[in-house]
Amino acid sequence: MEFEGKRIELVENLKKRGVLSNPKVINAMLTVPRHKFVPEAAQSSAYIDSPLSIGSGQTISAPHMNAMMCELLDLHEGDKVLEIGTGSGYHAALCAEIVAPKDSITPGHVYTIERHKELANNAKKALNETSYSTQVTVIHGDGTLGNKENAPFDKILVTASSPKKIPPPLMEQLKDNGILCIPAGSKEWGQDLYVIKKKGKHFETNKITGVRFVPLIGKFGFD
Ligand code: SAM
Repeated sequence: MEFEGKRIELVENLKKRGVLSNPKVINAMLTVPRHKFVPEAAQSSAYIDSPLSIGSGQTISAPHMNAMMCELLDLHEGDKVLEIGTGSGYHAALCAEIVAPKDSITPGHVYTIERHKELANNAKKALNETSYSTQVTVIHGDGTLGNKENAPFDKILVTASSPKKIPPPLMEQLKDNGILCIPAGSKEWGQDLYVIKKKGKHFETNKITGVRFVPLIGKFGFD
């Protein structure tokens, strides 16, 4: 089966499992070619609902996790998004497809930060090859510091697991009424996915489900 057929099958399965229902997220998952964001040897597995190794000891998350996080963020055209943990660049491309579709007259933008230089470079290449490089800026650095130059953000997603204390710069760099989606907990086991909404000086926190992510390493992350 061609990649497009496999992509449609994956999306149908995620819909049946109740993981995917937002039409904008469905469209993004049908549009972004996940196989172009994984190493060549793993391309045949790109549409299996599983994490895959992308080098530097890191993984691209399973598609159901990408879908769930995009839905929880309630992304809209025009949103300015910050992602911590670029990895392959796939999740950034999904966000870009929603906040800055090609025909948009009010396009948003995705800023994404990766601590491994090689992964940041590979992600830039994949985003360029799939025509998302104008909507996504890849930054090499410590994402626990956020990105002051481009703050505040409508939405922030973190795709590595934070300690229980959420990095303060991320809370500060969220717009009023903005949404932060972040896994947090212990370094190896026992993490939960949280949705945090900023309401003036207050934050509303909701625990969504148990998850397992690679650790967020940095000044406000793990050592
Ligand atoms: N979103 C990615 C994708 O679509 O492929 C998957 C991300 S992977 C599960 C988590 C990534 O977070 C890894 O690439 C890891 O190197 C990165 N990471 C961990 N701590 C970080 C930090 N402080 N700043 C930036 N990236 C970090």
